[in-house]
Amino acid sequence: MQLTDNFGRSIDYIRISVTDRCNLRCVYCMPDTMKSGCYQDGKINTDSILTYEEIVRFVDVAATLGIKKIRLTGGEPLVRNSIDELVKGIKEIPGIEELSLTTNGQRLAGMTSALAQSGLDRVNISLDSLRADRYAEITKGGDFDKVMAGIRAAEAAELLPVKLNMVPMVGINDDEIEAFVRFGIQTGCQIRFIELMPTVVNEHLFNKGFIGTDEIKRRIEREFHITPLKLRKHGPARYFSVTDHAEHTNGIIGIISAVTCRFCSQCNRLRLTADGRLRPCLYSNIEVSLFDALRHNASKEELQGLILQAVDLKPERHHITDGTETDTPTASGAPFIMSGVGG
Ligand code: SAM
Ligand code: SF4
Repeated sequence: MQLTDNFGRSIDYIRISVTDRCNLRCVYCMPDTMKSGCYQDGKINTDSILTYEEIVRFVDVAATLGIKKIRLTGGEPLVRNSIDELVKGIKEIPGIEELSLTTNGQRLAGMTSALAQSGLDRVNISLDSLRADRYAEITKGGDFDKVMAGIRAAEAAELLPVKLNMVPMVGINDDEIEAFVRFGIQTGCQIRFIELMPTVVNEHLFNKGFIGTDEIKRRIEREFHITPLKLRKHGPARYFSVTDHAEHTNGIIGIISAVTCRFCSQCNRLRLTADGRLRPCLYSNIEVSLFDALRHNASKEELQGLILQAVDLKPERHHITDGTETDTPTASGAPFIMSGVGG
């Protein structure tokens, strides 16, 4: 079966936030003081977030509607215990062709073997600086060596290609754009430059730090030749091959123009929050809650109906650049924060 929305887009991908909790506080994502809603006294408050069984059930039903790709995200997915059990449960579902995970890499090194053995296909690792001191500042305490160890472990476990997410910000890390391209060429990692997106926690940073795709490309072209690649399959990243003539080496980079260049017409995804809200668009407050249905063991048909409802509500496009929805609270009343929605 193929799932198609009202604008002719084929929907085959769901990003699942397994927790809104995180062990870092990246400047653009979470306020320093933020406490998560999922945990109480260090234990998961199962009253408010989906259990692994419920997530697997959800994916099982979504797969019957044509969902083929799943990404686990958060918050930081690796702070939730025994995530490999969830990976295994999802990977065993007929119809799920690709399962990936986005992580800050702090806990990755010790977990790659278990994740790969459970069926994880790939990882994206967030890394906003190649300088340990700067990395710690941006993430408010992140350990650079741990991410590096995570990258090496992911390569060793063949969670390939390892993709590195970098959010360039003026005056914070934008002087490292070329260095990241070189790092990608040297290590074989695919660097993905993500435009900084405005949220309720980063208004000031966004106003002074935003750097758009054209400028990112201009910086890269000071040192490299870049050629567009046709790898884009209903995804937000546009890929380029990069060539460093001096060393005759090649790499691939992606640029995600979340703000300047709408990729809404290509959008193939839904998002499930840790507390069971299905969101058809990152930047819209539309959501359909599946929490009660999953908790009370609703029938397959009821769950299919709720998923189809979310697809039916998927808006044609986001309004980031219109300035109308960037700080819109979610329908549940929670403010829009990337770690809560699942970036
Ligand atoms: N904690 C994991 C991590 O950092 O990779 C997964 C969740 S995080 C919300 C997913 C991705 O969203 C990260 O690559 C992060 O850099 C990106 N992100 C978060 N807030 C963002 C923002 N305001 N603008 C652009 N990217 C953002
Ligand atoms: Fe945590 Fe990821 Fe947000 Fe950084 S970007 S605060 S690591 S959820």
